[in-house]
Amino acid sequence: MDFSELGLSPELLRAVSDVGYTSPTPIQEQAIPQVKRQRDVLGCAQTGTGKTASFVLPMIDMLAAGRSRVRMPRSLILEPTRELATQVADSFERYGKYHRLTMALLIGGERFGDQERKLDRGVDVLVATPGRMLDLYGRGKIILSDVRILVIDEADRMLDMGFIPDVERIVGLLPKPRQTLFFSATMPAEIRRLADAFLTDPVEIAVAPPASPAATVAQSLTVVDPRDKREALRRLIRSEEVKNALIFCNRKRDVDILCKSLTRHGFDAAPLHGDMPQPKRTETLERFKNGEVRLLVASDVAARGLDIKGMSHVFCFDVPIHAEDYVHRIGRTGRAGMPGRSLMLATPEDGPAVAAIVKLIGKDIPIMTIEGIAPAELAFEDRPRGRSRTPRAGHNRRAAETASDARRLPASAPAARRARGTGDKPRADTAAADGNVMHFPRVAPRRTEPRRSEARADRSEAKIVGFGDHLPAFLARPPKVAARG
Ligand code: AMP
Repeated sequence: MDFSELGLSPELLRAVSDVGYTSPTPIQEQAIPQVKRQRDVLGCAQTGTGKTASFVLPMIDMLAAGRSRVRMPRSLILEPTRELATQVADSFERYGKYHRLTMALLIGGERFGDQERKLDRGVDVLVATPGRMLDLYGRGKIILSDVRILVIDEADRMLDMGFIPDVERIVGLLPKPRQTLFFSATMPAEIRRLADAFLTDPVEIAVAPPASPAATVAQSLTVVDPRDKREALRRLIRSEEVKNALIFCNRKRDVDILCKSLTRHGFDAAPLHGDMPQPKRTETLERFKNGEVRLLVASDVAARGLDIKGMSHVFCFDVPIHAEDYVHRIGRTGRAGMPGRSLMLATPEDGPAVAAIVKLIGKDIPIMTIEGIAPAELAFEDRPRGRSRTPRAGHNRRAAETASDARRLPASAPAARRARGTGDKPRADTAAADGNVMHFPRVAPRRTEPRRSEARADRSEAKIVGFGDHLPAFLARPPKVAARG
């Protein structure tokens, strides 16, 4: 099919051709005619399917017919993260370059003043995250009675991030006769319930997820002692031809720590996480996209859905807590048919989390060893309960405990053992080639409680009341049972 068959205006077709698209993606083919017919749409589609253009393109033509009034936007697009909202706003600008529509991007972390001035001039399209949208509404800066088109994008992420009450409030503020387009990558019962409440007689469109990154990205896994992680990462980066890379950490504060460490070692790195002021986040992302920064150390939320062309590498400095995040992470590379490479570092205690990832992607991740770094083994069993440990002073205690646990655990990675001490350059061995694969004895249930390492880290920060930093030894000793005479 050709874009010209979708009933789009000549201006839009020109903009689409300028962007370099030759034919519509399946979601565009199915959704664009329905949106133009003013039908409500329930779209089951992920990022990477071209779903943004499936609502932005017809909206531009529909909005071109009228003009907005001061503070009275005519359409509203809700996005779960600032980065996704910014990306959608960019799409509006690219596809709408031959139209004279006005748009305001309302995201947290930016100054209210600029956003309010835009609203005062009158905007056709609002692209917003729910929190900032409600803040501005509460300040009396937005009148919603003119909104005729509402888009709720990435509804399942909104749910994950706890934004559904805000979304419900916003929908309750909108006029009833309106067109609603609702997109979600998955349709759990809670999302279905929302769709039923928000949509009127919707057309349902479901498209297959884009080719799983698990199939197109060359992946590897390296298991090391926690003390070796940073050195291992540095060696991996040096051994690969990294044009640009995202490096994922599980926690925001680790993003800063790792980024500083990489910079100290001469790497060109910048951090990206949700605690940074928004102007700094935007600036960092721009510098990364322009190639001024080579390594972006990021948290999952800040980097979600980022569409950066030609990213050569993704490094998982931590094994993600939720297996699905692994797919999101590695999907940042190998986009649009380009080759991609992802390398994950794990420590012994990550065994269950790695097993969950392998189960999700349905294939083993080849093991890679690193010259000069002793490979470790994944551990799959929890520490025996009730064993008392006397905390010792010293910041390496955690690492030492983990490493000694790993030594006790049954051999689960023959590859890692064989590779130990070989002094090879980093090398990836595939399961099919030589049986050099991890064996996963069991898959951990999805973790709902903090991981042990997190819990320990939290404990280490918590104020200890009573014993200071010292646990008297008698408390850690098992009680003696008196011998009967
Ligand atoms: P999205 O799913 O909206 O995040 O889009 C994913 C990527 O596909 C973005 O980089 C878009 O620029 C690109 N894209 C969208 N529509 C098309 C198309 N018809 N042909 C080629 N690329 C497209």
